[in-house]
Amino acid sequence: MNKEIRVRIAPSPTGFFHIGSARTALYNYLFARHHNGKFILRIEDTDLTRSSRGMTRVILDSLNWLGLDWDEGPEKGGEYGPYFQSERKEIYNDYARKLIEQNKAYWCYCTQEEIEKERAEFFNKKMNWQHRCREKFSAEEINKRKNAGIVPALRFAVPLEKLISFTDIIHGIVEKNTTDIEDFVIIKSDGMPTYNFACVIDDFLMKINYVIRGVEHIANTPKQILLYDAFNMPTPAFAHLPVILGKDKKKLSKRLGARSVLEYRDEGYLSDALVNFLALLGWSPGGDEEIMSRDRMVELFSLERINPANAVYDEAKLEWLNNHYIINRIDQERFLENLKPFLFSTGYVTEEGYKNKKEWFDRVCLLMRPRLKVLKDIAKAKYFFTDDFEYETESLKKYLNDKSVSLVREFKNKLEEIKDFAAKNIEEDLRDFCSHKQIKAKELIHPLRVYITGTEVGPGLFETMELIGKEKCIKRISTIIEKYEYRNE
Ligand code: GLU
Repeated sequence: MNKEIRVRIAPSPTGFFHIGSARTALYNYLFARHHNGKFILRIEDTDLTRSSRGMTRVILDSLNWLGLDWDEGPEKGGEYGPYFQSERKEIYNDYARKLIEQNKAYWCYCTQEEIEKERAEFFNKKMNWQHRCREKFSAEEINKRKNAGIVPALRFAVPLEKLISFTDIIHGIVEKNTTDIEDFVIIKSDGMPTYNFACVIDDFLMKINYVIRGVEHIANTPKQILLYDAFNMPTPAFAHLPVILGKDKKKLSKRLGARSVLEYRDEGYLSDALVNFLALLGWSPGGDEEIMSRDRMVELFSLERINPANAVYDEAKLEWLNNHYIINRIDQERFLENLKPFLFSTGYVTEEGYKNKKEWFDRVCLLMRPRLKVLKDIAKAKYFFTDDFEYETESLKKYLNDKSVSLVREFKNKLEEIKDFAAKNIEEDLRDFCSHKQIKAKELIHPLRVYITGTEVGPGLFETMELIGKEKCIKRISTIIEKYEYRNE
């Protein structure tokens, strides 16, 4: 391709930057990088009542965290700014004037009530109705309405009975007859442009040649094409990304997937893992390749390989990927560094405490590492950091009984004799003890774990015991056994 590829994302700072927006951003980014093109960020904040600076911050923070650096836009600048639509009002007005001069747009003095009433009448008669009022009122009536204080909106005069057709890169041919398109508003009565109008002007002025966005916008595209045509502007290529649904084929709920990107960060997903996961929500490079570095994604990405069918958000897969990245895709140092804030937010570890026993804390963290789906899971290791943890009721039910208690009590005596309380010595003693008793090791391992950690699941028991230390292990075992015996007296 000779012409420089220029793509953009155009989020509105009216809600959270969620998974869908992040995927759109990623695909635009990958496409731009693959073609050595430019990735532009434009903030569509024309809805003044619903947009906020805070939400813009969330967008920038989310993109930064994901590592999707934009080439032009807020905080970066660029030749085609400003990149906030709220700062481009004059530009839209100039373009609107051009349409008025060519009779391609007109002022609509209808009131909202009139429009609703007309719509309802046609709806009741089951007739197709699209609002058009280009020659509805006489000059006199318009004057009357002006005097009555009605502020008009500017509508685009949609060319009648025209078939609009475009080839979407992902969905193929899309057609729409203008009979089904109303004379849509381009400048609202508050003077602000509508999304379709501002988007077209900006995409043109910012020299965007590929528009890659969610399929929820595919119905807007014919309207936008009409505007490009009206201005004699070249139309960009369009690629509408498939919807992301839950495994139940329903819209993503707040619990599953409809979360803000920053919530993933705060839960302890690694941004590389989330990016890898997002990449596969609708696209695949073919073959079995699923785990890919950014460079590899950039190398392989193509719009043609995006599947038009709905993408499925699989939480378990995301957790699996994140765990894989935690174990295999970051080095030990970065892992420990990334984990630190999560360690502190458990409430059991202070920065001071950590500094004083860094080596020990690091060993605990590394022992837990394979078991972390998200970094926040480090809270599950609380029994390393405090004696004040709850025993799981279910686990106690299974393992706090006469048989287990008597086994553990007996083994405790052995533990007391161990001089060097190292994992391998504990293990050796335990295995000896069990073979002597002709029982399987797990008959002792399970209750022992529960008595010491309060739960049935965790990393290797012997390493765990070594790190908790002889004194504490024995104390916990004694306490729980005493409680049991006291209860049964
Ligand atoms: N502001 C629109 C949105 O957030 C942009 C759509 C587009 O990319 O054209 O959905």
